[in-house]
Amino acid sequence: MAEASTLQDRYRACLILSGAGDALGYNKGDWEFEQNAEKIHKEVAKMGGLAKLDVKQFPLSDDTIMHLATAEALAEMDKDAPLEQLYGALVKKYISCMGDMHGRAPGLTCMSSTHLLQMNPEGDWKIPFNQRAGGCGGAMRAMCVGLRFPSPEQEHHLVAVSVESGRMTHHHPTGYLGALAAALFTAFAIRGQPPVEAWGHRLMQVLTKAKEYVREAGHCVNKNMEHWNYFEKSWEKYLETRGILDGTGKPQFPEPYGVAEREQFYSSVSFKGTGGASGHDAPMIAYDGLLRAGDSWTELANHTFFHGGDSDSTAAIAAAWWGALYGFHNVPPKNYQGLEYYSRLSDVADKLYQLRE
Ligand code: MG
Repeated sequence: MAEASTLQDRYRACLILSGAGDALGYNKGDWEFEQNAEKIHKEVAKMGGLAKLDVKQFPLSDDTIMHLATAEALAEMDKDAPLEQLYGALVKKYISCMGDMHGRAPGLTCMSSTHLLQMNPEGDWKIPFNQRAGGCGGAMRAMCVGLRFPSPEQEHHLVAVSVESGRMTHHHPTGYLGALAAALFTAFAIRGQPPVEAWGHRLMQVLTKAKEYVREAGHCVNKNMEHWNYFEKSWEKYLETRGILDGTGKPQFPEPYGVAEREQFYSSVSFKGTGGASGHDAPMIAYDGLLRAGDSWTELANHTFFHGGDSDSTAAIAAAWWGALYGFHNVPPKNYQGLEYYSRLSDVADKLYQLRE
């Protein structure tokens, strides 16, 4: 039995394993959006199984580059810096990280929105509402916001920063509420409460606070309210399906729940058939996998890295939460030790650990 992970280890594992999940789920673009999940699982088996996958052969995709941008902006702020200052730093990082996207398949919304940000006067992080910005690009990079603001007393900061960082590129509730879920569940994992089965129920409560925040922030309020419900209703329906809407009891899964059944389910909760491509279902599929996997890295990978949708984003989110819960517990060293930008991820995790309270 491995020794219990320290909190600092869990900070590192959150960022490093998220990168590892992204790299493995992406596989140089071969596995992201590969429609045939059985084919991915066969290829993994052919390579000797998950434990044999050496991340040195798997470059990071856009998800981790943007997650690093978020984390490094958070880490360079003084503890009491005003949020406006952080938002200015985030804008700069999001713009500059676009120069490191060769071979990493950045999303179209991130590219076009960072272009808009570039044309804003310095310090202005607001872009117009965008009816088509419900994708998962805001969610995939927000887990570290939960590392910076992990405690219940910091929840209003977590809400504000996840919403604003999310809508810097994805100004649509389905997009930026995905960032809120990614950040909030990381905070829960770091706190060690509530239990994983109750995270979804708590998310529904925090959504009310997020709605208030967006109203008070006063930026494109009517448009945001008009499109608010999709995320909330989708999550409500999902939690009901699993029997955990009220935050008590164990999640219910169909038996069997193998590759084929999961593919069908992931597709059914998606916006247009591609599981994990949106702000609502990327964290949902990550959560579904985490509920099933418990402390098994292999099961987490089977459920959230290797499926026929936006697999690198669901992997990046799920692996971040898993790392924040379990550290590097029984993770095969090959799966993360040679990861691209390992030191950057580890260093920024240490800085966020220092800043946490
Ligand atoms: Mg990607």
